[in-house]
Parts: sequence; structure tokens; C-alpha cells
Amino acid sequence: MQLAAVRASAGLAAGARPARRSCTTRCAAAGSGGASQQQPQQQPSPIARRVVLGGALLASAAAGAGLARAEEAADERRGEVFHTDEEWRELLPPGPYNVLRQASTERPFSSPLYGEKRRGTFVCAGCGSPLFASAAKYDSGTGWPSFFEPLPGAVDETFDKSIFFMPRTEVRCAKCKGHLGHVFDDGPAPTGQRYCMNGLAMAFQPAGDA
Ligand SMILES: [Zn+2]
Repeated sequence: MQLAAVRASAGLAAGARPARRSCTTRCAAAGSGGASQQQPQQQPSPIARRVVLGGALLASAAAGAGLARAEEAADERRGEVFHTDEEWRELLPPGPYNVLRQASTERPFSSPLYGEKRRGTFVCAGCGSPLFASAAKYDSGTGWPSFFEPLPGAVDETFDKSIFFMPRTEVRCAKCKGHLGHVFDDGPAPTGQRYCMNGLAMAFQPAGDA
């Protein structure tokens, strides 16, 4: 029984031999090219490279996330007139940039436009778009240039909840979406609206000027 088992085992082994041989033949055939024999040794190298590259891509993606957030902020105020945040910084002096692009508020009574009484047009300091006619300006006593209405289609109005206990309506230039100020419903006739604007966000063009 044991001998038979040994023979059977040998038979199996013998039967397996051709397979091994054919493997050897295939390997030898594959190896005949020379270059293909080296390929298996080089395989880990491209993989390692991919891992390193993957790590580098992840690192650059993380660095890019900060840039993406800055771009998102710029996109939030993306208008017909569009510049990146970096471009706006170069185009505008710090005061107008902080108001128009960062929605800050100038100190009351600080703008020469507060006392401006000539006939003319108040235009956007960012893109030059006409915003308010001098005929709509009035003295609100607040320290900020105030108007009872904008020129038709000149501004956009959006909900501003930056001060959580005092929801306001933000007024933006319709063309470049630059922050101009806020509008309140305690203005004079005929509209009852008070467009409370930052002088830094505007420039004045006297009537008759080109
Ligand atoms: Zn504008």
C-alpha cells in the first residue's frame, strides 16, 4: 500500500513535471528578450514613484485648498466686471479695496463725498459704473453719503446677516458686485429708503464732465 502510494505520488509528481517544464519553457521564452527579464525587478520602482507622486499630489491639493477658499470668496462677488482678489488688491487703494471687496465700513464723517452738494453722478470706485444721481442725495445726519434711490438697475440688494442680531440689506454695485453699503427703510420721501453708502466705494463726477 505504501509502495503504491509512493508510486502514485511519484506518478503525480511525474505528471506534474511536464507542467513545470512548460513553465520553465515559458519563462525561458519570456526571458529570451533580456529586457523582459529585468522588468519584474523594476516593477516596484514605478509603484514607489506613484506613491511618492500621490503624496506630492495630496500635499499640493492641501496647499491648493487655501487658494480655492480665496477664489471662492472672490467668486462670491463675481460680477460682469470680474477680477481675482489679487487683481483687485493691485487695482484699488487700500481704503476702497477694504470697503468694496472686504465689505468693511468707513468711519462716519470721514468721506469728502458726505458733504458733496454739486450736481453730478456718484459712480462705483471699483468699475466706474454710475450708481446714484446727485438729485437723490440728501443729508441723513449719519455721517455717510445717503440717497433715497439708486439709478435704475445700478445696484443689487442682498440679505446680510454678518451681524446676527441686526439683519440688514447689503447694497452692491450691479456690475462688479463691490460692497457699497446698506439700505434701510427710514429714508425720506418719495421712496422712504435710505441708501447708506461708503464714500470710499464711490467717486463723484460733476455734471458736464465726460
Ligand atoms: Zn462696480
